[in-house]
Amino acid sequence: MVEPGGAVPILMYHSLSRSSTSAFGRFALDPALFDDHLAFLADRGYRTATLSDLVEWRLGATPIPDRTVVITFDDGFADFHTHALPALERHGMTATLYVVTGYVGSTSEWLRSDGEGDRPILSWEQLEEIAAQGVECASHTHTHPQLDVMPHAQMRAELTRSRQVLEDRLQRAVRSFAYPYGYHSSGVRTAAEAAGYRSACAVADLVSGDDDDRYAIPRLTVPAGTDPDGLAALLVQGPPSAGDRRVGRAKQLVWRNLRRHGPRAIVGASASGVPLWASGGRR
Ligand SMILES: [Zn+2]
Repeated sequence: MVEPGGAVPILMYHSLSRSSTSAFGRFALDPALFDDHLAFLADRGYRTATLSDLVEWRLGATPIPDRTVVITFDDGFADFHTHALPALERHGMTATLYVVTGYVGSTSEWLRSDGEGDRPILSWEQLEEIAAQGVECASHTHTHPQLDVMPHAQMRAELTRSRQVLEDRLQRAVRSFAYPYGYHSSGVRTAAEAAGYRSACAVADLVSGDDDDRYAIPRLTVPAGTDPDGLAALLVQGPPSAGDRRVGRAKQLVWRNLRRHGPRAIVGASASGVPLWASGGRR
């Protein structure tokens, strides 16, 4: 059975850990639950692919294997090495990991305002091991800024520098990118393509389909506490309708204008610029 519209769920995880501040809690999933997710996927006959695999299949009009799912992790937290990597290996699965290159071997400084500035980030040695296991190491900028509201020259530098650093250190081509907070604009999408990326992921909380914009691929947030039943509910969604996409774009435009004109003045904005009404939140 081929999924309608080439629908492929792209799951978005962040940290696998049991403790976090309340502001970050929705981005931290119990490692035991992640293992349950992989067991559930294996049991249901799902196969994992990297984001690059999916994009190249689509570009080459190659049929996408039935029951394909893409697992992505944002930010490059060190707990990926502790928990995700062994779980993926046990289940014979892979993932795409979006790394903030400026903080490799350090901590998540950009989360300071959420009380999470000391969360360890992967080292280059760990990233080499992760890449050697077949996990796609991709870019999530150099310093995790809001790309759509910063000066263009700086925005382009964030895109090119992170790719260059990853390629130099890992000696592998870097083709995939994910927007911090899921924030992008037409200028940012164009710059991502010009920087040499073959794709860029957003958030959107929609299933990915064949006719996605390759520089705004939607992903599904996996909220903290999601058990296998919750995961099953995420996976059964069909491809997004034109209406779903319109609503998603409208929400993003409204929020970008609010951020541009002073997010701190807006009731309901968190210090890190994330709208509290945003479905599931994003990092
Ligand atoms: Zn992020």
